[in-house]
Amino acid sequence: MHKMIRSLLPLALAATAFNAAAQAYPTRTITIVVPFAAGGPTDKVARDFAEALRKPLGQTVIVENAAGAGGAIGANKVAKAPPDGYTLLLHHISMATMPSLLRNLPFNVMNDFEYLGMINDVPMTIIGKPSLPANNYKELVAWMQQNKGKINLGNAGVGSASHLCGMLFQHAVGIDMTAVAYKGTGPAMIDLMSGQIDLMCDQTTNTSTTIEAKKVKAFAVTTPGRLTVPALKDIPTMQELGVKGFAVTIFHGLYAPKGTPAPILKKLNDALKVALKDPDFVNREESLGAVVVNDKRVEPAEHKKFVQSEINKWTPLIKAAGVYVE
Ligand code: ASP
Repeated sequence: MHKMIRSLLPLALAATAFNAAAQAYPTRTITIVVPFAAGGPTDKVARDFAEALRKPLGQTVIVENAAGAGGAIGANKVAKAPPDGYTLLLHHISMATMPSLLRNLPFNVMNDFEYLGMINDVPMTIIGKPSLPANNYKELVAWMQQNKGKINLGNAGVGSASHLCGMLFQHAVGIDMTAVAYKGTGPAMIDLMSGQIDLMCDQTTNTSTTIEAKKVKAFAVTTPGRLTVPALKDIPTMQELGVKGFAVTIFHGLYAPKGTPAPILKKLNDALKVALKDPDFVNREESLGAVVVNDKRVEPAEHKKFVQSEINKWTPLIKAAGVYVE
């Protein structure tokens, strides 16, 4: 055999095996990495979404929590995982805010991932421990004035959505609070309900049921308009409360490691589109105040464009708010 052909043969065989694996995908369990603790809002969305994704893919889809560093540890894990479609990332607005909230990120949000489509948009709520004497936003701000230097604000670590929202809230009222970082707002919620921390800003997918059960007090929603979910419809918006321009909505999207073969990306995007129409998934999300994406952002290119536009939007706002960078 010619020397050149002989040296190219192993490469050609490897490429054939690679293509065959991509065509047969998926043949085993798929793992969705959630970069926060179990029991929190990202975890809840991921578990419901994994169930909806299982049906079109015909394989078990499990959730693995890789929490820490405000969501950067789990994202880094997926950025470095084999690009074979069996390890995916479900992440939120941090994909757009981490680059300006965290220094020395060990990955690049634009270059190290394949974008697979967006999942939902989720409002946030400013909530407090049940024993707070304040019963509305005005009373909350008065209580904060009286308790300067003693207030604890829970979050899921620097770079997380609760960190971003909490810091914007702190900037809006002009009162510094002590940030208490958790591996996710699931565990933070437990401490808020028992009064170990005073305040938190978190997604409605984690807060609506606790607000409804009166296990926490709700002071404001972060969307420009009021929400329609029964448990949340009476909560005023920050804009109504006179905090002009305060608007934070979280989005979740699905990602694969860079270099995942195109046929696998296509199968995953097709399955995502089917999952987003799953009535069980849609109803569950809506009941928690979230809106399942039903527009062009289900397309990978539009998802990526949207994250870039969020980076452009948040970077100057984060800088202007003086939100600290670590
Ligand atoms: N809500 C969290 C955040 O602040 C994350 C989580 O636990 O899902 O980003």
